[in-house]
Amino acid sequence: MKEEVLSVSGLDCENCGGKLHLIHSDKFMKLKSGEKIAFANVPLLMCGGCQKRYIPYQTKEILDEFQQMLENTEHENQPRSIDIVEKEEDKKEFSVEETETWYDFEKIKNMFCNDKFIAEKVKFLYDRDDYYFIPGLVRPWKIGFLTPVFFNIEVLLKYIHHPQYGLDIGADTFGYIYKGDEHYISFGINENNKVIMWLGDIIDLNVEEQFYLRSENVPSDHSIGSEFYEAQIEVQWAEASAERKLLKKRLDFNEKVRDNYNLAVAQLDTETLRVAKNIRKLLVNTNDAFKDLIIPLNELFVEAINNKDISKDLKQKYPELKEELKGKKGIKLLQLWLEKNTTGIDVNVEIAPLFVLYDLRLVSAHLYSDNSREELLESCCTRLGLAETERNYIVIANTLIDKLDEMYDKFIQCLSVMNKGGEEDGE
Ligand SMILES: [Zn+2]
Repeated sequence: MKEEVLSVSGLDCENCGGKLHLIHSDKFMKLKSGEKIAFANVPLLMCGGCQKRYIPYQTKEILDEFQQMLENTEHENQPRSIDIVEKEEDKKEFSVEETETWYDFEKIKNMFCNDKFIAEKVKFLYDRDDYYFIPGLVRPWKIGFLTPVFFNIEVLLKYIHHPQYGLDIGADTFGYIYKGDEHYISFGINENNKVIMWLGDIIDLNVEEQFYLRSENVPSDHSIGSEFYEAQIEVQWAEASAERKLLKKRLDFNEKVRDNYNLAVAQLDTETLRVAKNIRKLLVNTNDAFKDLIIPLNELFVEAINNKDISKDLKQKYPELKEELKGKKGIKLLQLWLEKNTTGIDVNVEIAPLFVLYDLRLVSAHLYSDNSREELLESCCTRLGLAETERNYIVIANTLIDKLDEMYDKFIQCLSVMNKGGEEDGE
């Protein structure tokens, strides 16, 4: 077989950059004596992109130890204590016919992976193999803590709509749930749109919350490649792409507003969470690829503006704005809010990248005649500081990302921060 031993941390395929997930499959092995043996149900990692397989080190260790045990046993001529499994299907492998003995890895595994997991009051569906065989999750001092528990994405609906809770994303596949303005629990979203939380985080919540979560709990699909996983195994955030840094900055701004004004400026829905995974660096210069980036960006940065709460906040604090607020929404509403709550910047100028994003969404959607489309694109390029003739979508997208990033920097810096008495402290 051609599996490689996985030596890198992270779940990215060396071959194609795809995400690895855990599978259970056959593994063939030759003993020193020349005997050909095979194992069924062996945990391996497989790339969803190119199907390349890797052996997790925990699997390798168990196989090595078992092999040694077999070879010693043969010398001592003792009977084997492990049940032999007959396996008849899957004869395509050249070595299947020659295989003299089949072992069930499931049974061997239980000799090695039998730690007592952290105690749960509510019984969740999860697979201990995820904890043992997905690299980087074993913590001898907190056994089972980092076991991924999977949910339908609808599990998030409560936190999106419940007045006491809030929800936001800090990267395209990593998010936070808030209770009031406190972090409550973090979650990831995998390539199959399943929500993932760590077992250890879940059992710290009160039992009622756990029963709610249990109602949307589904069996593991063994796929946890996401920023959620990467954050846990401490992948360097310094290597984060410009797109990912922008998402983080957006979250920083939203959190600062949440902390100081008890206001959620963004209101996400499950569809936005799904499309946010498509926010990736633009690699090809085509309108289709451009559209695939601009649509989720616009959905997250513009369409997710929380019109209802921003409007309410402004009405409460500035009753004189009542008329002006009528019919105002989206970027213009956010702009008005920022004008009232920042010092030292011209919001009208600084917020321009959001309007450009909105216009680029229109450009990419082909809703206009070629002429007006061309005009709008010219205007976008000019406002981004590019030549009005710029037509390389990669250049346009990268510039837009940079400008949005700078915009959030300014907003974060210039937000009037309240002290506990509700007075501005002038910083
Ligand atoms: Zn691959």
